[in-house]
Amino acid sequence: RYQSLAYNRVLEIHKQHLSPMATAYFQKPLLLHQGHMEWLYDSEGNRYLDFFSGIVTVSVGHCHPKVNAVAQKQLGRLWHTSTLFFHPPMHEYAEKLSALLPEPLKVIFLTNSGSEANDLAMLMARAHSNNLDIISFRGAYHGCSPYTLGLTNVGTFKMELPGGLGCQSTMCPDVFRGPWGGSHCRDSPVQTIRKCSCAPDCCQAKDKYIEQFEDTLNTSVAKSLAGFFAEPIQGVNGVVQYPKGFLKEAFKLVRERGGVCIADEVQTGFGRLGSHFWGFQTHDVLPDIVTMAKGMGNGFPMAAVVTTPEIAKSLAKRLLHFNTFGGNPMACAIGSAVLEVIKEENLQENSQEVGTYMLLKFAKLRDEFEIVGDVRGKGLMIGMEMVQDKVSRKPLPREELNQIHEDCKRLGLLVGRGGIFSQTFRIAPPMCITKPEVDFAVEVFRSALIQHMERRAK
Ligand code: PMP
Repeated sequence: RYQSLAYNRVLEIHKQHLSPMATAYFQKPLLLHQGHMEWLYDSEGNRYLDFFSGIVTVSVGHCHPKVNAVAQKQLGRLWHTSTLFFHPPMHEYAEKLSALLPEPLKVIFLTNSGSEANDLAMLMARAHSNNLDIISFRGAYHGCSPYTLGLTNVGTFKMELPGGLGCQSTMCPDVFRGPWGGSHCRDSPVQTIRKCSCAPDCCQAKDKYIEQFEDTLNTSVAKSLAGFFAEPIQGVNGVVQYPKGFLKEAFKLVRERGGVCIADEVQTGFGRLGSHFWGFQTHDVLPDIVTMAKGMGNGFPMAAVVTTPEIAKSLAKRLLHFNTFGGNPMACAIGSAVLEVIKEENLQENSQEVGTYMLLKFAKLRDEFEIVGDVRGKGLMIGMEMVQDKVSRKPLPREELNQIHEDCKRLGLLVGRGGIFSQTFRIAPPMCITKPEVDFAVEVFRSALIQHMERRAK
């Protein structure tokens, strides 16, 4: 009784005092009470397997004991200094993080959110290149600060107001939903069901999308460019992957025009993709700037921009950069513990092994159900795109998607949604997930899909 009263009170307060845009996923919003590793518990004591990690953020597990112990120790020692004073947790963290990045990406700017990191990366690109224009993909999400909204190309985040000066979008090389693509284009153990017309060892899709990229460079931006932002795999757009080799060629074209290349690793970094620690490494490219957040603090607010000494110098010449909370002792101690846990518990390897196992299992669902159009991703960043049928690839109507989503929750599984029609289920559990839990999740989906097909048949 107490719990249900508290629940109603929460809904009332939410309605009266919180942003009307902070909407809940489910018909009956989930009121969370506690988390442990890959499990979440609501206020009524129901248990859920967390397969979305609070939007791809919990990397090593909710309330991980080692991270909690480090946080508690730091809590009793020192919370805050501002960047005016030095404190060892920041320097320890800087040393650990920089060791994970290749030369010459060795200078770290600590911030508090991904949007803030991308704002700063935009400033850096412009300060370094002395140019204005920046390009990003359609479907990209790089933040929702006024500056980064120019880079974010998801319709629901656009406003009828001037903004995004100097930002241009370019076609997203999406091999499933875009005009070109096919059966061996992307870097994933599972390929699209679209048959590629070219021979197995070549890929026309990449060349066609590169032509489009060049077209943007020739028509929509100034001759000299400030930069190009790309997520190694698009998150918010529904785990969208590009053809193999695309980013490498795109980086070359951007650099020929004086621009710098920025990898937004906010979702893809810290071992989530399994085969590599950073998403850009899966494309065999070396960016000039890397931005990161989310999994970096396992849910604690912290983010960073990492760049080369040369680019850092270009910014320092033009601006005094200051951040009250960026690099605070709590965040840095937690960030260090997260890096240690990823290593000690072999979580990158676990992402690779359990992620690949899961991807292949979800691919079976795609073969079983006409409404599962595509299964894709790498490591523990997986997308399952829902369609009306495999030939038209039209997105499944939203009400039907919502029902499947509700059914998964009812059966004890939390997953995310993505894509401009919200048509893709996004699966990104904490990296400590196990194979039996994956089996459970796949069976929950199978059961939700069977129920859906039965409803459709009526
Ligand atoms: N970049 C990417 C790829 C993201 O997914 C997000 C958040 N969804 C951001 C940037 C912005 O991060 P934040 O919400 O911490 O500002």
